[in-house]
This record gives sequence, C-alpha cells and structure tokens, in this order.
Amino acid sequence: MRILVVEDEAAIADFLERGLEAEGYSVTVASEGPDGLVEARSGNFDLLILDLMLPGMSGIEILKSFRKVDGTTPVILLTARTAVEDRVEGLDAGATDYIPKPFAFEELAARVRAHLRRPDQGEATTLTVGDIELNLLKRTVTRGGQEVNLSAREFDLLAYMMRHPGQVLSREQLLSGVWGYDYDPGTNVVGVYIQYLRRKLNVDDLPDPIETLRSVGYRLREE
Ligand code: CA
Repeated sequence: MRILVVEDEAAIADFLERGLEAEGYSVTVASEGPDGLVEARSGNFDLLILDLMLPGMSGIEILKSFRKVDGTTPVILLTARTAVEDRVEGLDAGATDYIPKPFAFEELAARVRAHLRRPDQGEATTLTVGDIELNLLKRTVTRGGQEVNLSAREFDLLAYMMRHPGQVLSREQLLSGVWGYDYDPGTNVVGVYIQYLRRKLNVDDLPDPIETLRSVGYRLREE
C-alpha cells in the first residue's frame, strides 16, 4: 500500500514517514503544495495525508483539485485542533477524515488502517452497516428492510456513525462532526440523540447497534 504525505514541517513529515514505513507502507513525502498536487494526481497512491498550511498551495486546494480526478481514494487532513471551519471545509471538499494536530501516531495509524481496509464510501449514495441501510440522497433509512423515520439531526448523526463503523467516536468528535461545535456546550446533547436513535432503530427486536463505552464514546457495531 502506497501513501503520499504532503507536509512542509520536516519533523512531522519525517515522523510520519518513519512511522508509516515501520507499519509496512511505502511512503512518499512532498513538502510543497504544487509538488504534492502533481504526486497526488499521479494515481500512484492508495491513501493521501495532507497538511492544510503548505507553501504554494493549501491542502484544501490540493484536495479539491484531486477530487476532480479521483473521487474514491481516501484523504486524511491534518488540521489545527481548534479550527472547526477547516474541518468542515475539508469534509465538504471531499476529505475522508481529519486528524487534529498534535496527534498520537497510534491514532493516525489506526485511521489509516481503517480507511485502507474499507473502500471509501464518500461518493456512494448509500451507506450500509450490518442490517442498516442509509440513502444519502433520499435521506431514507431502513433497518432489516423496515423503514425508520429520523429527524434531520438524527439522520446526520447516524450517517456520521455509518461513515466510521466499528470506530469509537468521542462526544467531542460527534459534536464537531454532526453539530459543528468546537466546544462542549455542557449539555448532554450527544447522549440524548444517541438515545433517540437507539429507540428508532429498535426494529423487530434486533440487537442495539450502538455500543456505549463509558466516558469514552460510542461505537456503531459493524456486523
Ligand atoms: Ca504546514
């Protein structure tokens, strides 16, 4: 598996290159935006890791230009921890995922493994996890073939979780990914909506598809 890293900070680029090579990937590093774009568009890579602030061209510009020729290769953005707008813009531009800086290598490696294991569903109109099927265009959901009626927010929450099946999603991650908050409003809005979803997904006595990991987050079961 070949990974392209576009990162201008030599220390981070080095750390990523060594770490990912140790995991068995073949890694190419570009340190400037325009070089990064040429490499990205070469079609030689199975996954891209893009920093946002780069000399010559931003990571978002690379992503947008790349997505015109390739809608499926997973792209992970490295973003500042606080910059919610960057993440939203990045996901809108077709990013598969983002990792806030500073990050632990283990976290990044886990995301890389997850995205390389599963074909990217970013361009698909239908997401399927276990017996749940969600149509992004019609905004419909079925479980075990039965229609489930969700509110707009419940739908967005389920769609977000279905894009990350089997992954533990923290409250903070769900708040930022679904509600667009970069702060915790101090209410238990995530927990409340998870309960709504559980209730509505309780069809035909099928098992609860959402696992709660106390004080860690939530996970949508893959099977
Ligand atoms: Ca940078």
